[in-house]
Amino acid sequence: PVRVRFAPSPTGNLHVGGARTALFNYLFARSNGGKFVLRIEDTDLERSTKESEEAVLNDLSWLGLDWDEGPGVDGDYGPYRQSERNSLYKQYAEKLLESGHVYRCFCSSEELERTKEIAKLKQLPPVYTGKWANATDKEVQEELERGTSYTYRFRVPKEGSLKISDLIRGEVSWNLNTLGDFVIMRSNGQPVYNFCVTVDDATMAISHVIRAEEHLPNTLRQALIYKALGFQMPDFAHVSLILAPDRSKLSKRHGATSVGQAMVNYLALLGWGDGTENEFFTLEQLVEKFSIGRVNKSGAIFDSTKLRWMNGQHLRALPSEQLTKLIGEQWKSTGILIEAEGSFIEMGYSMDLFQQKGRLSLNPSRGWLLAVDVNRILYVVNHDFVSPGCSVEAKPVLEDKLSEFAASYIAAYDSGELIGALEEGHAGWQKWIKSFGRSLKRKGKSLFMPLQVLLTGKLHGPDMETSVLLLHKAGKSGILASQAG
Ligand code: GLU
Repeated sequence: PVRVRFAPSPTGNLHVGGARTALFNYLFARSNGGKFVLRIEDTDLERSTKESEEAVLNDLSWLGLDWDEGPGVDGDYGPYRQSERNSLYKQYAEKLLESGHVYRCFCSSEELERTKEIAKLKQLPPVYTGKWANATDKEVQEELERGTSYTYRFRVPKEGSLKISDLIRGEVSWNLNTLGDFVIMRSNGQPVYNFCVTVDDATMAISHVIRAEEHLPNTLRQALIYKALGFQMPDFAHVSLILAPDRSKLSKRHGATSVGQAMVNYLALLGWGDGTENEFFTLEQLVEKFSIGRVNKSGAIFDSTKLRWMNGQHLRALPSEQLTKLIGEQWKSTGILIEAEGSFIEMGYSMDLFQQKGRLSLNPSRGWLLAVDVNRILYVVNHDFVSPGCSVEAKPVLEDKLSEFAASYIAAYDSGELIGALEEGHAGWQKWIKSFGRSLKRKGKSLFMPLQVLLTGKLHGPDMETSVLLLHKAGKSGILASQAG
């Protein structure tokens, strides 16, 4: 049976790379009827925090990547935090000691430092010399009696090579002579990362290890441990790095910190595609279409403009009631003008317009995944905004015979001619504004600027068609129009 795992270290937030790894694991599990396990790799007690663990769990839940086993979801292979599995690591370390795959190394850290320095001078690789690899029982006994502290070192075969076949990268092999005997348990009894991962993957019956390329070098050590423990090796799939548009390693400065539905779509396309031109996928569609064989082995480029675009596509695809609800919730959570919410929610019809017009975008700086351009909406909806009259910048335009202009506009509004035209959709609006301009002998700026002022009290604002509709919904012809009239 397929069992995969996502194994975050809780030392920060879930970043784009981690989210993609989680997603690929999730998709692989779901598309193969397998299990998706979540394991918290908190062996680094100094850097791991509970807050970070919580944040990562929240982000995963928010992405909709629900796990079948892991923190909060009991399973047969728990516990699912490495910090709770110490006795297991101990037990397997002892097993390896008994079978001779591991030996006690009594070298002090000073001694190890010194031999490293010497190797460097002689231009030899800085690998462990194997001093304690072949110690006699008597020598070991003496050190134990002396109370010298020791580590558990893994005995690496001194020649030959080790091969794994990676589902993405193909065959990968290493020469064993470059790898010295390595520590699996420190002198304080703390097991070392690569050892924990292997014991966990083996005892959690993980069938496929899908993870970031940066872990490929670890795979050599892990594969040796698998063999020594007599466990069957899982299949490996090392996914390439996510790069910034300039092909540098993606980092926080590229704004790559938050995640959502569009993000899921976007992440999946980083290094994967269904083989068609199609770039729009819901999570359900991804589950249906995903195959690990289509994952690319070259670096994928992270392009936040495209992400923003994609977010807009997803928002536009939502039913408008749902979008309205989402925005309402967001307004509440951000504390933005709660009073406007009621009048806004009534505007299901205007919402459609916002959806069509694509004023929907991602606003990473505020951590919003759903960020309809709230200010633009408020600008028109918030009636109080108007009371002091127009803004300073609008004054000159107002003085430009605005009252005459306004009178024509209000006449068109009051007679129902304007709204009638708008009801025919965007084409209707275009037709109306053209003929309105013709009647006043105005076009371009001299037409649009006074109209903008009339509608919103400012020279710049949302597009006018939207403003007219919103104001109409609010029972007004125009913000300044009523005063001018
Ligand atoms: N804990 C590792 C990380 O967060 C993942 C290790 C693995 O997937 O094997 O990078």
